[in-house]
Amino acid sequence: MNPIFQARDLSVTFRVGTGSRRKLLSAVNRVTFDVERGECLAIVGESGCGKTTLGRTLIGLYEPGEGELLFDGRSTANLDAADRQMVRRRVQMVFQDPHASLNPRMKVGEIIAEPLRLHGIGTRDERQRRVADLLEHVGLPAEAAQRFPHAFSGGQRQRIGIARALALSPDVIVADEPVSALDVSVQAQVVNLLKELRARLGLTLIFIAHDLAVVRYVATRIAVMYLGRIVEIGRTEDVFGNPQHPYTQALLSAVPFPDPDAEEARQRIILKGDIPNPIDPPPGCRFASRCRYAFDECQRADPAMTRLPDHQQVACHLVAAPLAGQGVP
Ligand code: SF4
Repeated sequence: MNPIFQARDLSVTFRVGTGSRRKLLSAVNRVTFDVERGECLAIVGESGCGKTTLGRTLIGLYEPGEGELLFDGRSTANLDAADRQMVRRRVQMVFQDPHASLNPRMKVGEIIAEPLRLHGIGTRDERQRRVADLLEHVGLPAEAAQRFPHAFSGGQRQRIGIARALALSPDVIVADEPVSALDVSVQAQVVNLLKELRARLGLTLIFIAHDLAVVRYVATRIAVMYLGRIVEIGRTEDVFGNPQHPYTQALLSAVPFPDPDAEEARQRIILKGDIPNPIDPPPGCRFASRCRYAFDECQRADPAMTRLPDHQQVACHLVAAPLAGQGVP
């Protein structure tokens, strides 16, 4: 294996408040994972779990506070300006809101060509030809280049955002909730486009989402985040078929089944209790205040990641050392 990203005990911290009220908010806390070339790794969790911060750290918008992030085998902390520029070319982002992320005063052709222009790539004619190719890649006509973003639907605007992300022929696309702002009827089309582009262009896709039904369809592996930590990571079929962490089980219990009989029998796990404050997280398991299996050890000790035989990894005391009668069902 030759991962494109390797995160080792990676933390991202923000200062919040002013003066004597200044505190540290730990948005991502000691996460360790690899992103393999060509895979689609989904990062899932509720709002505020740190998934967007993690995605933005991968594309270089945030600096890791502690730990290490390697891109293509090299630590991103030691890159000079030229190498940072190279990483910025090779890792591109698709944003959540296609309305806000496209400049309404620029024509679509200028929007898509902008990354090429900023990196000084190609002549004006070459960039125009590239724009036409990119529009074709994302299923839009070449004439779209002459129009402004407002002339397009939400789904079409997201296609334009994807074309812009592809302009520099990146190795990795980080897609942050790329379909959550779209009508349900067009979500599948955009997800299908990302899947197809990943296969056709050999892209690595990091898909940040809260909608697990979408994730199941697109991801090859899933990392589940809770309060800045990855609590479970594994192949999609393993995480969906045999979720080990109580938080993953609760998230998956909210996903409807297409089969009416299975849907009728679905038992929803309702999470009670409050999410702890990320400025002052509890000393033990961060999920303990909402976990139906929590026991004394969970309040005291932070569970380490345990690797299961099929490579699924879980941070839960019950998985590390199942107690009689307390195994995660
Ligand atoms: Fe629940 Fe304890 Fe496992 Fe945390 S470590 S998920 S509180 S059982």
